[in-house]
Amino acid sequence: MSADPGDDPHVRLLLGAYVLDALNAEETCRVARHLQGCDGCAQVYVEVAEASALLALLRAEDLRE
Ligand SMILES: [Zn+2]
Repeated sequence: MSADPGDDPHVRLLLGAYVLDALNAEETCRVARHLQGCDGCAQVYVEVAEASALLALLRAEDLRE
């Protein structure tokens, strides 16, 4: 089982870092496993991932000008 079940059980605080691939292997594993079983967090993950992709596009636009 998880080492700290009471700490952010829905991994939402980790999703931003997960999208940016900034978590360690253990956290990445925990988030990935949770997303497979939790529709609520999976939806938040999609939104965070889309926002992150948009930001990347905006940054690319800025660099071009
Ligand atoms: Zn969840």
